[in-house]
Amino acid sequence: MSFQYHVFSKAGYDIDKCLLMLVDNSYVLQGEIDPHKFFKFEDVSKQVLENQNEVDSYKSNLLEVLKGAEEPEMKIGDKCFKPFDCDYQHHCWKEIPQYSIFNIYQNKKAEEIAVQIGSYDIKNIPPHLFPSGAKVIDIECYQENKTHVQKDKIKNWLKKLQYPLYFLDYETIMPAIPIFDGTRPYQQIPFQFSLHIQEVENGELKHFEYLHKEKSDPRKEFARKLIEACGNSGSVVVYNQSFEKSRNTELAKDFPEYAANLEAINMRVIDLMEPFKNRLIYSPKQQSSYSIKYALPAFTDLNYEEMEIANGSEAMNAYLNFIQGKLADEEKLMVDLSNYCKLDTFAMTELLKSLLNISK
Ligand code: SF4
Repeated sequence: MSFQYHVFSKAGYDIDKCLLMLVDNSYVLQGEIDPHKFFKFEDVSKQVLENQNEVDSYKSNLLEVLKGAEEPEMKIGDKCFKPFDCDYQHHCWKEIPQYSIFNIYQNKKAEEIAVQIGSYDIKNIPPHLFPSGAKVIDIECYQENKTHVQKDKIKNWLKKLQYPLYFLDYETIMPAIPIFDGTRPYQQIPFQFSLHIQEVENGELKHFEYLHKEKSDPRKEFARKLIEACGNSGSVVVYNQSFEKSRNTELAKDFPEYAANLEAINMRVIDLMEPFKNRLIYSPKQQSSYSIKYALPAFTDLNYEEMEIANGSEAMNAYLNFIQGKLADEEKLMVDLSNYCKLDTFAMTELLKSLLNISK
């Protein structure tokens, strides 16, 4: 806005106020959307005026770059992500390995290390520059191409599990402009869950799912079906517990009649991400990530690559289009969503199987 102010005022416009228009995420939809309440305004005039000297000092540099025949030589680093991801990363980062020292250190530190060792490759980090904590495991596994396994700790972790196991995963939409009464901008609305149930260790799997196939608020039916399917005992296994637990807490708040049951489900949650996040087990194929998308191909024969819907945000967008009546082939979407969400919970069962095998 400081830059915009500069351009407009130099072009002769008389600007008396600079207002930043933001979505007010405390707004709750009831009936028709009210644009006056949906947006809020922040007066940033003072900051904009204070920044004018700085904008002035940038100006000559910017003009120089524009007029120059050669591309300026810029070092990549922290600035490429702040205050947001720069659009030129595809260009400036093309020589950087996909898994680089930026995956190991904070960006600023990575910049320094790159200068020190003259490389972005993790293979070239000398031991005296290893960071403390879990990242040492990542570097050693990568440099020596080995898998890290803490068998006893995995065994201990496995003791937390109580059968029957309920492997659970949700899909949500989070529309900026709320669609359903009683919801806020960007509120996560769960519309689908997948559930694999396993009665005994390495036993047969039963699959259940709920997918809201109408263009209406899915939350209440979602909560009801979830409670019905999850029974009363046994661990509820999720990957990244804060996501499913937060959705349950929100549902409990919005539908108090289900609160006790939803809270009871939360009490049974075990996070399968923990062993991977805490490096009880780590493969260099994970490239410092403990997301299920990386852990899965590292320890099982499964991966997400061939799925029609390959990630959660694609599932979100496709379902949002469906709800808004913008989708040509609704039947196909339902099949794709079903397969995608089912794979998430099946993936968890396979990851657990690999932990059980490794712990033996
Ligand atoms: S990616 Fe953007 S911020 Fe980073 S060096 Fe390139 S132009 Fe500069």
